[in-house]
Amino acid sequence: MKIVCAAFAFLLAAFPALAQNVKITPIGSHPGEMCANDRAMIFEDPTGVRVLYDAGPTVTGGNDPRLGTVHLVLLTHMHGDHVGDLKLKAVGEGTCANSARVPAPNSTTAEVVAAKNAVLVTTRAMAGFVHNKVDIIHGSGAKPMDFCPTLNVTVPVPAACSSRIDMGGVFTARTQGASQGVEFTIVYSAHDNAVSPALLTKGQQDLLKADGAQLQYGPPVGFVVKFTNGLVVYLSSDTAVFGDMKTVIHDYHKANLAVINLGPNPGLFQSGAYAIDELLKPASVIFTHVNEAATEGGKLKANTQTAALMKQVKAPSYLAISERTMEFDGKGSCVSGC
Ligand SMILES: [Zn+2]
Ligand SMILES: [Zn+2]
Repeated sequence: MKIVCAAFAFLLAAFPALAQNVKITPIGSHPGEMCANDRAMIFEDPTGVRVLYDAGPTVTGGNDPRLGTVHLVLLTHMHGDHVGDLKLKAVGEGTCANSARVPAPNSTTAEVVAAKNAVLVTTRAMAGFVHNKVDIIHGSGAKPMDFCPTLNVTVPVPAACSSRIDMGGVFTARTQGASQGVEFTIVYSAHDNAVSPALLTKGQQDLLKADGAQLQYGPPVGFVVKFTNGLVVYLSSDTAVFGDMKTVIHDYHKANLAVINLGPNPGLFQSGAYAIDELLKPASVIFTHVNEAATEGGKLKANTQTAALMKQVKAPSYLAISERTMEFDGKGSCVSGC
């Protein structure tokens, strides 16, 4: 009996700690690899709140079985590789450098929001676009998608709705009965927010083409997400190095895990080490959006830009390997799956 009691006490002591981790699962084109087009990631709070960060082009659509339950969908900006103007033809199809994708005329973001009855967390300007697309998916006669009635929701919500916040705005989501919610703050990203013309109506496409113009949906954004175990995640989206990384993300929000988008356009292959080591100073880093086939057989390829940057970064850094779940404690340390 004594042994049983001791074992039980040990379990009690051990399991709350286990349950206090945030689970992070990238959803990419090729299982076990970090590939060029990979964007989407699922975050699961210990209380059960599940969040999709940028649906992008590596989900097969709103019903991709790898998504599971999704309570909230975050949208950073309107570039096709984030809002999702293409979707994965099939998991593992095509190469890691160039996955096989097909058009998603309503965007994968709207597909997932509609399929999951999820909360869209983004700026009001971008929400307007997704509302329309979700309404198209639902068809005429359905109640139009609107902003959520409150900035503090219990998930799952009864019908898809969006966050009604802009830069600096805070939105909270909690599961039924949870004493604490997951908190989302919209932060700046130093980037661009032009929509892919393929997602616009024909008339709008023609107007833009006549003037060589692009349609912008307000500022592009990143997020700070505060989980209930104390983990504070900075989701950079596509961004150049900029001063808010120190003042807002590090000093004010005290982010302890940075999820950083790489790729050639915003220059973080060059400035990433400075941004991470000197400005953000997180406990850990996850790299995603690498725009190259960074791994082969799950191992980082030595002759990649991603490998070159990882050598320079002081904090422990990890790759967003598709369908591999990493677990982080409240201090930003990876405790499993890294
Ligand atoms: Zn972009
Ligand atoms: Zn991008």
